[in-house]
Amino acid sequence: MSAQPSEHTALHAIGHYINGQLHNGSGSSLPSYNPATGAVIGAVAMATPADVHAAVQAAEAAFHDWSQTPPLKRARVMFRFKELIERDMDKLAAVITREHGKVFSDAKGEVVRGLEVVEYACGIPELLKGEYTEQIANDIDAWTMRQPLGVCAGITPFNFPAMVPMWMFPMAIACGNTFVLKPSERDPSVSLMLAELLKEAGLPNGVFNVVQGDKVAVDALLDHPNVRAMSFVGSTPIAQYIYSRGTANGKRVQALGGAKNHMIVMPDADIEKAADALIGAGYGAAGERCMAISVAVAVGDATADALMAKLAPKVHALRIGDGMNAQVDMGPVITAQHRDKITAYIEDGITAGAKLVVDGRGHRVAGCEQGFFLGGSLFDRVTPDMRIYKEEIFGPVLCVVRAPDFANALKLVNEHEYGNGTAIFTRDGQVAREFAHRVQVGMIGINVPIPVPMAFHSFGGWKKSLFGDHHAHGPEAVRFYTRQKAVTQRWLVSEGSRGPEFAMPTH
Ligand code: NAD
Repeated sequence: MSAQPSEHTALHAIGHYINGQLHNGSGSSLPSYNPATGAVIGAVAMATPADVHAAVQAAEAAFHDWSQTPPLKRARVMFRFKELIERDMDKLAAVITREHGKVFSDAKGEVVRGLEVVEYACGIPELLKGEYTEQIANDIDAWTMRQPLGVCAGITPFNFPAMVPMWMFPMAIACGNTFVLKPSERDPSVSLMLAELLKEAGLPNGVFNVVQGDKVAVDALLDHPNVRAMSFVGSTPIAQYIYSRGTANGKRVQALGGAKNHMIVMPDADIEKAADALIGAGYGAAGERCMAISVAVAVGDATADALMAKLAPKVHALRIGDGMNAQVDMGPVITAQHRDKITAYIEDGITAGAKLVVDGRGHRVAGCEQGFFLGGSLFDRVTPDMRIYKEEIFGPVLCVVRAPDFANALKLVNEHEYGNGTAIFTRDGQVAREFAHRVQVGMIGINVPIPVPMAFHSFGGWKKSLFGDHHAHGPEAVRFYTRQKAVTQRWLVSEGSRGPEFAMPTH
């Protein structure tokens, strides 16, 4: 593959990583931006089907030796990888902030959450142990073992450019698979840094590959016969598309989609704590988190009034700017187009009759006039028929809905098409238990606004937030990235044949 001239060749080229080498690829490129300044900072290669094929071939060629490498040795690569991530933590986080915009401390937080999956993957010798039963019948023993699938692929969203890929590849690789990652074209650089760290940790060439690109690259992976499994995280329409096309092509697919996470605030909740939780969960990372709370359901008008009185000044007080500035709470959104889309949602909410209590439109940051900034917006009296309630805005916009009682609040959550995360703030254990028991959502917080499961549990939503059967990381990842064999054995060398048996063997 050779570098082709493109309109962005003068810029920092962000290419592919195939078989342990950086490549410029054979296709065109797209500009990449620093969302805080609006400046073009790089040119991201867009993989052609030929580039994707080269990556899959490299992964296929590496599979045999890697899958035969004892789990303990694979774990040792993960141990070294963990140490290298810790060594380069600040560099990784700075690149995330430069390309994504989130504040530096939050970027470090996402690297740590990814690192925790690497730590879990270090336990792979234990995790891969099968089950064994001696003497299932006279002189017969049986056991199960889990074997890797082959080449696995990951397609990841812009909002967690390090953590979400690390939900996938450490587990896939530790299980003995090889991997091709197609990161978001909006913040592609950190994936290449992780690839270099894996090489430094001793991972053989070809086991981990990165192709940059868009739908062309994704479709080439979806249709490639040697890709055995696909992990996807992104918006719901694309998740649904990946699931149907991938499974139609005979692949194992897990596709995590979008969200509209509700937090119920009961009348007995500590309103100050609930408001602080909503500010962090609603406006952290400019609302661009799949577990962001975008709807607060206040139970009773008195609760709603008290909550609004606490929330409005806190939204006004958000410090907005370049994420590298340690004094800043919230950075820009990812692109100018996304900022305009969020602005259009706010206009739609006003037209539909919601009460815009804090208006974040047109926010300007001194010194960053070209950046993709929005202030925090806060709506009261949002109703379920409004687009701002039904659709995922994925920006710093919090909608407050008023419900008369717990039953109606729960009904709202259960009737929404998304089911990623949800939370309840209450002092009543019985209500909390009832909520956890009856709510139709995959991840539930009780006085915890963003209930992201730790690496040793698994992450996944319900309804239109997940297509497929397996959640990400934790024990579910071991099941997703391996297939089970069951062996039944009899060694009876001294006994002659009993002749053919035609009935089902029973005790
Ligand atoms: P996106 O769906 O636009 O993109 C995700 C990936 O799919 C990217 O790699 C992109 O290049 C690729 N892609 C985009 N359009 C495609 C197409 N037409 N065909 C094939 N591939 C395509 O999502 P995004 O904007 O990068 O990320 C934000 C979304 O991700 C939000 O909806 C958010 O809720 C969701 N998300 C979900 C989770 C979760 O765990 N459920 C986690 C993080 C983000």
